[in-house]
Amino acid sequence: MTTTERLLRSTSPYLTVTEDKKKGALSHCYLILSDDDIARKGLCRLAAKVALCPNGGCDACDVCEKINDGAYVALKINESDKISVDDVSQLIEDSYFTGFDGDKKAYVIANMQGMNEKAQNKFLKTLEEPPEDVVFILGASQQTAVLPTILSRCKKLYAEGFTAAQIYGVLTENTEEPDEETSLAAARASVCGFGNLTRAKKLFSDDEFGNRFSLLVSVIRNLTSTKKLDAQLSRLNVDKNNLDGYLDIAETVFRLALAAKRGAVEKGFEEIESLQEDYDYPMLVNILELITKCKKMSESNCNPQSIADALFIGILEVKYLCRK
Ligand SMILES: [Zn+2]
Repeated sequence: MTTTERLLRSTSPYLTVTEDKKKGALSHCYLILSDDDIARKGLCRLAAKVALCPNGGCDACDVCEKINDGAYVALKINESDKISVDDVSQLIEDSYFTGFDGDKKAYVIANMQGMNEKAQNKFLKTLEEPPEDVVFILGASQQTAVLPTILSRCKKLYAEGFTAAQIYGVLTENTEEPDEETSLAAARASVCGFGNLTRAKKLFSDDEFGNRFSLLVSVIRNLTSTKKLDAQLSRLNVDKNNLDGYLDIAETVFRLALAAKRGAVEKGFEEIESLQEDYDYPMLVNILELITKCKKMSESNCNPQSIADALFIGILEVKYLCRK
């Protein structure tokens, strides 16, 4: 079993489905909510295994073996990003009319956020009169992406975020003794993932991440007046592709500076320790709010350069307004 699978088996959605299965009380439709792609898809698959395996996901029986090989006929998995009305029609027909071995059939739709309203309405009809012995396991990045009428017919399971230590375990699982550089990169990516394994993995595989991290810390340290702002900002080369990464790093840096005030400096973040002396509690809290605003601006596709300006001018303002 991989570290990721072991981790997923400790989450509350997995434990709930397992418990339901034990009690013989499987719901006919589950909705697993998580904006972590790896966790959501993995949990959907695992939940299907629990539902279909006579032993609740033993990983040893014929059913589990076939599922692991992707060869179990009574399990259909849809992980595509776009699901059309035609796809739903096909699924409905399949769920009512296709024969199967075993005592249950399961359908996984991991990206409900990719099913448009028309298709969801069509799918709803199936949930209103579900075919017998069929379990639907749905996944969605957020609850608002699913029609309320569908939500009310699902058992909703919220996947909690992972700890930095758990994520570190996944990132380094294939390296027996990670060297200093790998271990540092993994430690940083685990923390910057904010509980999200997919995000942490993306950062970990990004060769530029470490450089950007050190660069941003240095820019923040040298941020003393508006006069120096342009020179500092140009060092970052902010564009559409790296802005979100920078915002995540900035959030990490200031959250860690807050933690450092309580005397807890995480391994791999020693360069932040000196930073906490320049900022008091109210400043750090205000700056974290500012970063949240910048993230919203980025979601609404504002100009990356303007967002970077807003962030750094905002930091200077907070420093000025909160100074003693
Ligand atoms: Zn089994």
